[in-house]
Amino acid sequence: MKASSARIVEVFSSLQGEGLRLGERQIFVRFGGCNLRCDYCDEPHTIAAAAGVLWPIRKLETRVRSLAAERPHRAVSWTGGEPLVHVDFLRRMMPWVKGLGLRNYLETNGVLPGALKDVAALCDVIAMDVKLPSATGREHWSAHLDFLRAAPEKTFVKVVLTADSKDVEWRQVIRLMQEADPRIPLVLQPATRVLGVRGKSRGIEPIEPRRAVQLLRQARGLLKDVRLIPQWHPIWGLP
Ligand code: SF4
Repeated sequence: MKASSARIVEVFSSLQGEGLRLGERQIFVRFGGCNLRCDYCDEPHTIAAAAGVLWPIRKLETRVRSLAAERPHRAVSWTGGEPLVHVDFLRRMMPWVKGLGLRNYLETNGVLPGALKDVAALCDVIAMDVKLPSATGREHWSAHLDFLRAAPEKTFVKVVLTADSKDVEWRQVIRLMQEADPRIPLVLQPATRVLGVRGKSRGIEPIEPRRAVQLLRQARGLLKDVRLIPQWHPIWGLP
C-alpha cells in the first residue's frame, strides 16, 4: 500500500476509555487491518486486511482539522486494527499532527518493534498491549521485549485479563516488565464481555474481580506502577 493513503474504518472525537489517559478528549483514527486475532477483540470488524476504505492523506488531514476546530482535543489516537501495519502512513501523518498542536497517542498490540522504531520519536504516548498466549494462540514475549526497549519513557502497558488468563502467563508478564524496565507503568484491564474472534463458540468471560486484585497485589511488590483500570467507554456509552 502506498504511504499516501491507508485503510481507515472511522475517524471520530471521543474520550479515551482505557489506560493512563482515561477521560482525555482525543481524535480517534481507527485503521483497518490487524496482524493478530485476539479472542477478546472488541473491534473484530477492523481486523481483516480489507477492512475500512482507502483515505488519502489530504482527506484525513481535512477531517482531523475539522474535528480539532470544533472543540479542544489533547491528542490524535492512532488505533485499529493495528496502526503499525500502516507505519509509512503514520510517518507522514504524525509530524503534521504535531504541527497542529496535538500529541500522537499510539495504541498498539506491541508485536511490531521494527515498525515502532520508525515512528517512536514522533510518538508522545505509546499505549502498548502485552498479548497473552491464551488470548492469541501464540507467544509474543520476545517481540514485546524489543518493543518495550524502543521508547520506555513514553510507554505504558496494558494487559487484558479474561477467565482464561493463566497464572504462569502473569508471572511471565512481570518478568518481561522487570527485564525491560520496572518503571514502565502496567495496567490490568479486565476484558469486556465479547464474542471470540478465533472461532470459540462461547463469549469471552472477564477475569473474576477477586483474582484480578490478587494479580495486582503480586505485581505491586515487583514493579513501580501497577494499576487496575477497567474499560470505561462501554460504561459511558461512548464509541
Ligand atoms: S490486536 Fe487489537 S485489533 Fe488486533 S485482534 Fe487483538 S484486540 Fe483486535
